[in-house]
Amino acid sequence: MTMGAVAIRLDDIHGRTPVELLHCLARELWRGKPVTYAAIPYAAPLSLGPTATTAERPGPRSARRDGPVLELLHAVRREGSDIALHGLTHADHKSSAGPAVPELVAIRPRRAEALISALDTWRDEFGTRVLVPPHNAIDLDFAQSLVARGYVVSRSITDGEVAELGLDTTPDGRAASKLIPPNGRPSSRSQYFQTISVSRRYIDTSKRTPTGTAGTLLRAASEAGNATLTLHWWDFVPRSGSGHVWAYVSELLLLLSQGAELVPISTFDAG
Ligand SMILES: [Zn+2]
Repeated sequence: MTMGAVAIRLDDIHGRTPVELLHCLARELWRGKPVTYAAIPYAAPLSLGPTATTAERPGPRSARRDGPVLELLHAVRREGSDIALHGLTHADHKSSAGPAVPELVAIRPRRAEALISALDTWRDEFGTRVLVPPHNAIDLDFAQSLVARGYVVSRSITDGEVAELGLDTTPDGRAASKLIPPNGRPSSRSQYFQTISVSRRYIDTSKRTPTGTAGTLLRAASEAGNATLTLHWWDFVPRSGSGHVWAYVSELLLLLSQGAELVPISTFDAG
């Protein structure tokens, strides 16, 4: 088996994310490994759910306003991590059809322009090359237009894309689709799929051990060339039961570092 690359993606960073938790994660879990920090420029109140909201610290919501989170983002970038843009506000919006959809789905021209402008600003400020759409969902034509501008999109594979590969959209079919290298997939240059999101709920309900989870990621890395593990900072907030999340992820990262090269997502394109 050839060694592929695995990216660790940490989602939902904004100005009110407890910075001491981010420092603690860097010290105890990442231990010098590069991480792709997916940060929100103008996080809307309550857009991340109750666990994140109750853990927020006072201060500006924007990840780009002066403050300890901004300092941390500059520091980790200097050490080789990626700063990815994670939408604009992370809030869902009402579509004309009725139900609310993720921010970059059914996107209107004004929002598209604002997103491109934010990406360009972040590229100048943080060297940003990667967009992580909120909820991993984005209008596919818009995603292609960002690729044409030189950006990389890290998202979920859609059921339509799974079907285009001749696979069914069951969990098994979706898992098989992620083993196909990017050049074997239709229209997905510079678009890379999340392989697994490991959350507290995943750990509690999937019954998969760190060894099993690492096996899935390493197989995708080996066969497709790269794999992406998504984590959320708020799963690590100290509270009842968070200790086993730390222990699980710690073991998982050890196994990944033994079987793959750990890299930021921006380097996938070079592979
Ligand atoms: Zn998010």
